[in-house]
Amino acid sequence: MIKNYGRKYNFSSGPSQIPLEVLGKIKDELFNYQESGMSIMEMSHRSKYFYGVQNNAIKLLRELYKIPNNYEILFLQGGARLQFSMIPLNYFHIGRIAYINTGPWALDAFSEAKKVDEKLCYIANESKEEIPIITEKSLIEDTKFLHITSNNTINGTQYQDYPKIKNVTLIADMTSDILSKKINFEDFGIIYASAQKNLGISGVTVVIINRSLLDKANSDLPASLSYISHFNEDCMLATSPTFSIYVLNLILEYLNNNGQIEQLEKNNIVKAEMLYGIIDNSNGFYRGYAKKSSRSRMNITFTLHSEELNKLFIRLAEEEDIINIGGHHKRGGIRLSIYNWISIEDCEKISDYMIRFMESHK
Ligand code: PMP
Repeated sequence: MIKNYGRKYNFSSGPSQIPLEVLGKIKDELFNYQESGMSIMEMSHRSKYFYGVQNNAIKLLRELYKIPNNYEILFLQGGARLQFSMIPLNYFHIGRIAYINTGPWALDAFSEAKKVDEKLCYIANESKEEIPIITEKSLIEDTKFLHITSNNTINGTQYQDYPKIKNVTLIADMTSDILSKKINFEDFGIIYASAQKNLGISGVTVVIINRSLLDKANSDLPASLSYISHFNEDCMLATSPTFSIYVLNLILEYLNNNGQIEQLEKNNIVKAEMLYGIIDNSNGFYRGYAKKSSRSRMNITFTLHSEELNKLFIRLAEEEDIINIGGHHKRGGIRLSIYNWISIEDCEKISDYMIRFMESHK
């Protein structure tokens, strides 16, 4: 099956696929956005047009993801990576942050916190192939925050349940699974995610933060690093990443018109079960990396029985227009990233390929 416009079956770990309808809308509106006489990229971030886009994106995200009113939504820049620094800068004055090391991104978040103050952060638990159980006993006394990476893009593990510890506020890097399933916001103090996997394109990072926690942030920071300053300036302290927020808004409109989060979550389950089903029924031909109880619905990681076979699997896939399936260089093997906008049809295509490849190489 050849896809529209010669597009390939792209399982990139991010930036990732965007629905064709959204790309079409961008194309249609590119030269003249809503009779403004210019593209969205050429107008002031303070124009009524862009304010409309930003406000609509905030409203839709709140509605679709069911974010309670006592949480604020910020659109920031600097990637998820800047949050690795902003979180300790804004909250170390309240107390210690414990980190759970479930992969390279989690470790990077910890390493950045250490640079701010190494006495105020520590690794409370770690595990690569599964999500560790975290209880009060895992934490040093006086810990005020717990930082987790809800989905581990490189290892392919994902929290199924989130840790709940009395008097400890949960902070989650949701860069690779935000908006992929319903969650209970009251379990979290802060959720952050850059947009380029599940929400659109790179350039904007969404931070969802409990209002009372926002009020307690360090107010004595350089403005660009301060949650309070960004909030007070409507996230327009620096010129907004207008195009990225525009695409985010289109993605949310698309979701609003296509089954909302309930349908999206169902699709994500169908997709992941389809691919794990092949791994589990392959008699060890495909070997999953993550423990079953910690498997990610977003990044399916596995290996074949030799590096040569992995390479062949990747090369022959490319001949069928299936691309970006090699594992991260720190992990190796194969990784199929099936974020929100990868269709069930795309997963059927790779499933069919996996079955044929197994039949001819076992
Ligand atoms: N956290 C996770 C879980 C990620 O997967 C990534 C990017 N792959 C990042 C953080 C870094 O995001 P950014 O490049 O937007 O800073």
